[in-house]
Amino acid sequence: MELIEGKEGETPFFIPVQDPLDQFPPGTAPVFYNPRMELNRDATVLVLSVLTPSDYLDAMGASGIRGLRASRECGIRVTINDRSGEAADLIRLNAERAGVQVETTREDVNVLLSARRFDAVDLDPFGSPAPFIDSAIRGTGRFLMVTATDTAPLCGAHLRAGIRRYSALPRNTEYHAEVGLRILLGFIVREAARYDIGIVPLFSFSREHFVRLHLRLNRGAKQADRSLGHIGYILQCSGCFYRREEPGVVPGCGSCPACGALLAPVGPLWLGGIQDSEVLDAMKVAMGERTLGTREELVGIIDTCRAELPTSSHYDYHRLAKVLRVSPPRIADLIARLQEYGFEAGRTHYSGTSLKTTAPLEEIYRALISCP
Ligand code: SAH
Repeated sequence: MELIEGKEGETPFFIPVQDPLDQFPPGTAPVFYNPRMELNRDATVLVLSVLTPSDYLDAMGASGIRGLRASRECGIRVTINDRSGEAADLIRLNAERAGVQVETTREDVNVLLSARRFDAVDLDPFGSPAPFIDSAIRGTGRFLMVTATDTAPLCGAHLRAGIRRYSALPRNTEYHAEVGLRILLGFIVREAARYDIGIVPLFSFSREHFVRLHLRLNRGAKQADRSLGHIGYILQCSGCFYRREEPGVVPGCGSCPACGALLAPVGPLWLGGIQDSEVLDAMKVAMGERTLGTREELVGIIDTCRAELPTSSHYDYHRLAKVLRVSPPRIADLIARLQEYGFEAGRTHYSGTSLKTTAPLEEIYRALISCP
């Protein structure tokens, strides 16, 4: 396996050369490494330095870079696991290179997490985390972190795969990235509830090609019930942009009050808030003078997530403008107009043209038409 010298954050390590290096998706080398996930790992370093777990399992380590950074940049006791022998060898080599002491294991993640418990567990597979969630919940003390790169199934683009993996109906809406995040979160909440464990989201975000969740586990039937109280459906009109929330484990039905078309349930998914503002504020402080390759982009995400309204869906206002046959105004003007009307409104981290608001659809249309 060809290795080149590399560095992420403050951690030097050997990068397994992906063959060829510029090919996407990577994963053609014997050990996986995706430079595009540096932001995801930078975020992990910040979250860990805020939560200070007593120990941390990088359950699917590959080159080990995630766990090595947790050890070197957060000073946390770390175990790095990968079932691949080549990965396990590289992790040991990289621990030496990074100058850190970590435990390395070479187990199937479901076996390891059925036998041992870690205060913080990180699932960062290539693809869907669904097959590992059950054991991860049993093997986690307080903090569970999950990446999903199967955005097509999660967002409804590959509907059958989404149904199989997450026992939910995602549907491809104009807010599909948010649906994907909430389908994954809803799935984890339902899996945890079986063990009388409640889930509290601390920092959640979605990028083009992945969803990342940082969650706290709270033990007790009451905690599980409280989390399940945030599970429900979005009833999305099949004919227009109208939608409404419907809490509960069974979906409702009905017709759209705006256009009369059928309301189609999306879910079950998480309807509640997805950020903990104290954690986000502390992450900003923890950034300090740290070396972070994606610092600027990460500041943008944290700030936008911090200000994001806790509604369960958003609108792409360019799509709404198209229906009205008006040219889209500046998003800042539209937000200001909705606020003048007395509603809350703001940007989201999902895309530059997406908007969250407490205003009903007809008020958004009115604002769009009245904008210069
Ligand atoms: N977390 C890494 C990327 C992980 S890629 C990073 O940040 O760079 C996924 C890794 O999971 C691969 O190395 C693969 O060998 C490992 N893996 C896949 N299925 C596994 C399983 N069931 N148990 C343990 N490791 C597994």
